[in-house]
Amino acid sequence: MPLRPDGSLNHDLMPGEKGPQDACGVFGVWAPGEEVAKLAYFGLYALQHRGQESAGIATSNGEQILVYKDMGLVSQVFDETALDALTGHLAVGHCRYSTTGGVTWENAQPTLGATAGGTVALGHNGNLTNSAELVNLVAERYGAQRRGELARGNTTDTALITALLAGDADHTLAQTALEVLPRLRGAFSLVFMDEGTLYAARDPQGVRPLVLGRLQRGWVVASETPALDIVGASYVRDVEPGELLTIDADGLRSEKFAEPERAGCVFEYVYLARPDNTINGRSVHASRVEMGRTLAREHPVDADLVIPTPESGTPAAVGYAAESGIPFGQGLTKNAYVGRTFIQPSDTLRQLGIRLKLNPLREVIRGKRLVVVDDSIVRGNTQRALIRMLREAGAAEVHVRISSPPVKWPCFYGIDFASRAELIANGLTPDEIGQSLGADSLGYISTEGMIAATEQPASQLCAACFTGKYPIELPTADQLGKHLLEQAELPLGAPEDGLTQVSVGAGGGTALNHP
Ligand code: SF4
Repeated sequence: MPLRPDGSLNHDLMPGEKGPQDACGVFGVWAPGEEVAKLAYFGLYALQHRGQESAGIATSNGEQILVYKDMGLVSQVFDETALDALTGHLAVGHCRYSTTGGVTWENAQPTLGATAGGTVALGHNGNLTNSAELVNLVAERYGAQRRGELARGNTTDTALITALLAGDADHTLAQTALEVLPRLRGAFSLVFMDEGTLYAARDPQGVRPLVLGRLQRGWVVASETPALDIVGASYVRDVEPGELLTIDADGLRSEKFAEPERAGCVFEYVYLARPDNTINGRSVHASRVEMGRTLAREHPVDADLVIPTPESGTPAAVGYAAESGIPFGQGLTKNAYVGRTFIQPSDTLRQLGIRLKLNPLREVIRGKRLVVVDDSIVRGNTQRALIRMLREAGAAEVHVRISSPPVKWPCFYGIDFASRAELIANGLTPDEIGQSLGADSLGYISTEGMIAATEQPASQLCAACFTGKYPIELPTADQLGKHLLEQAELPLGAPEDGLTQVSVGAGGGTALNHP
């Protein structure tokens, strides 16, 4: 398995490749009488694709918040003992892929902050663009008094939000949220809670998804609709950009903290979200099939067989085949368990590269002119190795079709691409990229075609990684970066702020509570 520069396993890529990675999944539930920790566990299980570095759940019984978190997959972090210890009637959960701050236990979420009257626990999907400014705001407001997560070595933008939301003795959490949320810039889909109330909020652009669902005896908020399905909640609506939801014994309330300026991430439709997700009323699977149809119209080719790069390329390949009339086939088998091995390949095995993940079905592809459909090209290593493998297996021609335009710009709103210098589309034309990959031809969908397939107005989508037009203003380069807060002068004080550590269960995680 490939490792990221920080040493963590990258579960999705072949050795040598680094591709787009999600920023996180969030889940919140308010449901008296239900086992909320287990609902959160299964919700996070459905959101695992959004972050595999760490997972955590916080619950409250109305008097005390407990949080249990650790490094690893949801199924590795939690066992029955840990979940049984997390009692209460409301919960927030989180699975993390880091885009601000290192891969450490301290940076796992939910984060905790001590408020004047209790505790706030928070999970965040997205990435703020004004963290440097918020560091100053925390210092200005609280000086050495504000400690919480920051004092425990948390170097994420999420810890800054938690510190600001913890507020002061004169305000409730709801009042503080309405004052703090408009000061945040960038992408944030948040779930947070105090001892008695669940909150959810989404940035004014609605960059990352967040949906509201209904249980028979409660409410659920989650990054994607499959997390509602798995716990038996019915979809109610998307949380609106610029909206704060408050859920407690008095029911559900909605407040607007900013005017919506919609700019949802188009890449969620292309690759990031699960195909069974629905974003703003549009099925992700249907969008991907339509992208394939568009690709067939924009880049037709004489060929014998359309095959997907499993599995993310499958819906677009189905669409390409349907539109072109060329038969669809499975020319590659995927090892479903790659990503679950912790055995590192030796240098010799590393040469096998892509075969760890994919293997060609020779009898299907031998002598055929192939159309190979994939969702995106980042650095190109996977596609280069794949094309070589297909030729060795007897393919007569290999035509590559990509259901997103060339990725040329970095994302500052919560998706981790390769650096700009590593992006293969940076400085090369599609024909040059095709030659570099060893393809007989290469065709990318147009930006217009991709956007039309989502059935969302172009003016309400972010497509900055393809166009370079960023919908949320960016600060100067020295005010951005994953490790910005590790270098910042934070206003820290002594570590004791009323939060103490206690052990829960036999697992490797640790719980924190507020006595
Ligand atoms: S830059 Fe790309 S990945 Fe990032 S939010 Fe915009 S469309 Fe999504």
